[in-house]
Amino acid sequence: GGSNSVLNFGAGPAKLPREVLLEVQGELLNYQNMGMSIMEMSHRSPEYSKINADAQKAVRELMNVPDNYRVLFIQGGGTGAFAAVAMNLLNRTGSADYLVTGTWSRKAAKEARKYGNVKLVFPEPELGTIPDQSTWTFDPEASYVYYCANETVDGVEFGFIPETHDVPLIADMSSSIMTKEIDVKKFGVIIAGAQKNIGPAGVTVIIVRDDLLGNPMTICPSILDFTHISKENSVHNTPATFSVYVMNKVFDWIKRNGGVKEMEKQANEKSKLLYDTIDNSDGFYYCPISEECRSRMNVPFRVGFNKGNVALEAEFLDHALKYNMHQLKGHRSVGGMRASLYNAVTLEDVQALVKYMKEFQKEKAA
Ligand code: PLP
Repeated sequence: GGSNSVLNFGAGPAKLPREVLLEVQGELLNYQNMGMSIMEMSHRSPEYSKINADAQKAVRELMNVPDNYRVLFIQGGGTGAFAAVAMNLLNRTGSADYLVTGTWSRKAAKEARKYGNVKLVFPEPELGTIPDQSTWTFDPEASYVYYCANETVDGVEFGFIPETHDVPLIADMSSSIMTKEIDVKKFGVIIAGAQKNIGPAGVTVIIVRDDLLGNPMTICPSILDFTHISKENSVHNTPATFSVYVMNKVFDWIKRNGGVKEMEKQANEKSKLLYDTIDNSDGFYYCPISEECRSRMNVPFRVGFNKGNVALEAEFLDHALKYNMHQLKGHRSVGGMRASLYNAVTLEDVQALVKYMKEFQKEKAA
């Protein structure tokens, strides 16, 4: 419902569940009869303290987070967390291993180089591929191994958890958190900006194993210091209170809708429908990503025979707007289209997209 609803395939900030936005709208001016908005209330008030506690508890429940992990909410986005990971964890040996598989892991490695030694586990691969694990080389001195579970720009997703032989594994799940059941025990730290699958921009979720706290670099600013933030229960300074409040409502929505298990099932179904449409288009649509690492969240594709036709792609986008389909344009560094299929995007949304794709093909490829 809601007269302003469009089919939103944006990569982030992304579509939020309509029910959540309606709930937010309903209490926007008067939160729990306090006569003011949650935005206007102290982050030390009982009301916000409850939201902070509930949201942490929800992350634990939804992801089955073991007791020896802390759940933190910080600011600074995914990019802030790139620096935070380095400054909190590099102290042990001064060196870290990075798996660079696309734009975001490349940026994370670049950021970490400011604070220590960064080694690549494999030479940067061709776009749309992840080198076979048997070819990787780890540095035995690495403080941690870092990777990006889903490369939002490139459309590359790991279908497995890298094996790091007891070296702490750090994962950027900014575009895949709560879209797949994972075994948190396998990770040292998980970082995730909220603005794709679990909430609005402004808050970043950090899940960190206890034993990795306590040894930040002395230059680490307190707002990125996991140890400090953990001690202060994520109210070390003024948090992004409104973002955390909305995120907490998205967590409730995920719970009501079958939890992460159901999000995973839907993600598989939605992405399969789109990839099948691309693959069965006799070459009119083209996805450059190897099958085994195709993202369930971000599907890049070209429009027009011979791997894309820029004029047809402009037309595709233009016609899409007539069908109320928004934000399908690919990332500026990749071109073509990108359809993002985060948790709030429904199977019906994707069915409408593939219906449009088939019609467009029929019209243009005749
Ligand atoms: N990591 C991933 C996988 C992303 O998709 C993004 C943003 O799109 C980032 C990190 C950077 O996040 P932010 O823009 O919040 O700094």
